[in-house]
Amino acid sequence: MVRELTHFIGGQHVAGASGNFGDVFDPNLGQVQARVPLASKAEVEAVIANAEAAQPVWAAFNPQKRARVLMKFLTLVQDEMDSLAALLSSEHGKTIADAKGDIQRGLEVIEFAVGAPHLLKGEYTESAGTGIDVYSIRQPLGVVAGITPFNFPAMIPLWKAGPALATGNAFVLKPSERDPSVPLRLAELFLEAGLPPGVFNVVNGDKVAVDALLHDPRIKAVGFVGSTPIAQYIYETATANGKRAQCFGGAKNHAIVMPDADLDDVADQLIGAGYGSAGERCMAISVAVPVGEETADRLLAKLTERVHKLNIGRSDDPGTDYGPLVGKDGVDRVNNYVQIGIDEGAELVIDGRGVTVPGGEDGYFVGATLFDKVTPEMRIYKEEIFGPVLSVVRAKDYEEGLRLANEHEYGNGVAIFTRDGDTARDFAARVQVGMVGINVPIPVPIAYYTFGGWKRSGFGDLNQHGPDSFRFYTKTKTVTQRWPSGMKELGPVGRSAGSTPNAFVIPTMD
Ligand code: NAD
Repeated sequence: MVRELTHFIGGQHVAGASGNFGDVFDPNLGQVQARVPLASKAEVEAVIANAEAAQPVWAAFNPQKRARVLMKFLTLVQDEMDSLAALLSSEHGKTIADAKGDIQRGLEVIEFAVGAPHLLKGEYTESAGTGIDVYSIRQPLGVVAGITPFNFPAMIPLWKAGPALATGNAFVLKPSERDPSVPLRLAELFLEAGLPPGVFNVVNGDKVAVDALLHDPRIKAVGFVGSTPIAQYIYETATANGKRAQCFGGAKNHAIVMPDADLDDVADQLIGAGYGSAGERCMAISVAVPVGEETADRLLAKLTERVHKLNIGRSDDPGTDYGPLVGKDGVDRVNNYVQIGIDEGAELVIDGRGVTVPGGEDGYFVGATLFDKVTPEMRIYKEEIFGPVLSVVRAKDYEEGLRLANEHEYGNGVAIFTRDGDTARDFAARVQVGMVGINVPIPVPIAYYTFGGWKRSGFGDLNQHGPDSFRFYTKTKTVTQRWPSGMKELGPVGRSAGSTPNAFVIPTMD
């Protein structure tokens, strides 16, 4: 039985009206399990109208009351962690344990957003001039939109919605059409937590829905995460239409492995960071850069041994290290890149193509693939594969390793493995990448710092979560006030005792 999914608008499930649907697959079986409606422009406009009407009601909640709704939401999600993780895994294909991590990392940003009463405090300068005080306040933008990728269907919507809601905005989420069920359930839980209807909406769709959001003047800000070409398109279109935009794109994250590193530890970490979630993470390590031939040979031996032991299986099998890719197009893309790597002259150490999984013979599985002697001119080095493929690029020294990371067009995450503090410190200072791990392979910053890549991994100037997110979702108003004296003496209201400013000269605070 194929389920028919809905939109979530004004606190209710609403059936799709466009007549267009996308297929949601069970990646373990390679079968369609649901149909998702793809909204028309008119449907998106109706969602925005609904959100616009709801937003002032929500903005009138004081910050502490808004925070309490988010606190209640935290409890509701935690209470149903198991079923949400199973739902997430069934559409995405990541393991249940990893699906719980996806939800948990999203909740951590909700926990951060609960600090809204503190984080929304403005600035105040008493007596900036004679009898003049100046203060600034942060106000919501109005209706804002989030357009999110398939690979973190809980985490990334919550990274956007948490700060947007805490600051008093209404939110329209356009989740990935590949795994929309968790976002729909989160919408129900927001309502149950006390969010007024219409403040958090889910509109399912494809480019038609996205374009409708990008061109509607009532949408004041767009937060996007996905592939780089779409990130750039959304950034350019949103900003050309006068909106704020923060758009995060693809990645090719390097791990520089110094000769003094503990190579057993490094190999363990790289296996998880390279192949976890079938490599479908923007912070996955896809390039290992051992420094020196001896380090490379030793590391390769340890990686090879571990890759052979990996357990690729159904996402609902607790013994699985990683499950299927999200779709058949992903399998074709990865297989194609493996062939390109062979044709380009890279050394294929382990070929993951053609793996079969018992109970998932038609599922979207790809075995772990390991390439050695990959060079910077190769497409498998330059382009994001987004699958379980780890490429080893041998560097002769530290400077060459650093240069590789710096010259790559992507700059999302990077790691260095070393026991030497001086090398690590130099690396952190000079590397041209937004998020750096020192003996940490996936340096996703915790919720109260910000997340964002550099170069073609990020477009816009304010990052996700952390203090930047409160700036992104609010506009600053600065008030300069002057109260004429007189009332407190109970005398007649008169002019200020001080000299009257010359109205024809720009005011200065002498
Ligand atoms: P995607 O770019 O295909 O889709 C992302 C969103 O954009 C989806 O909601 C989709 O419906 C929409 N979209 C797709 N094509 C569009 C078009 N032509 N016009 C308008 N909207 C369109 O990305 P994906 O495959 O869902 O996710 C994987 C990508 O996301 C990878 O490149 C990965 O690196 C990246 N990613 C980046 C980060 C980060 O923080 N930098 C985090 C997670 C994922």
